[in-house]
Amino acid sequence: MSDCVFCNIIAGQIPSKKIYEDEDVFVFHDIRPHMKVHFMIIPKKHIPTLMDCQPEDRDLLGKIMLMTSQLAKQEGLSEGYKTLVNTGKAGGQEVFHLHVHVMGGGSL
Ligand code: AMP
Repeated sequence: MSDCVFCNIIAGQIPSKKIYEDEDVFVFHDIRPHMKVHFMIIPKKHIPTLMDCQPEDRDLLGKIMLMTSQLAKQEGLSEGYKTLVNTGKAGGQEVFHLHVHVMGGGSL
């Protein structure tokens, strides 16, 4: 999806502060952090919103949720963290490529 900001980040066409990448996911810091630590886990597959997920996306969603604790720990959030998935315009979503926010470490 050439007009999707996050697809362009995955492709390296838009720079990002990458934390982790594998064949399924890409993880990078949010450009406008809400807390001291704020990163997002996104699937490489372009899925616009959580509402667009299908039964075949179950493993991918499970992988992303399981990854939150490992990556949070790596980023210094071993005591706990917040997760957030804004879904649809009415849910406050701004970028229409599925993403799980992971935040913590205190307010800015
Ligand atoms: P949401 O409201 O859940 O769709 O959040 C989208 C998030 O993407 C916001 O917190 C933005 O700060 C973040 N964002 C948008 N563009 C970029 C970018 N180029 N690099 C990093 N984060 C971005």
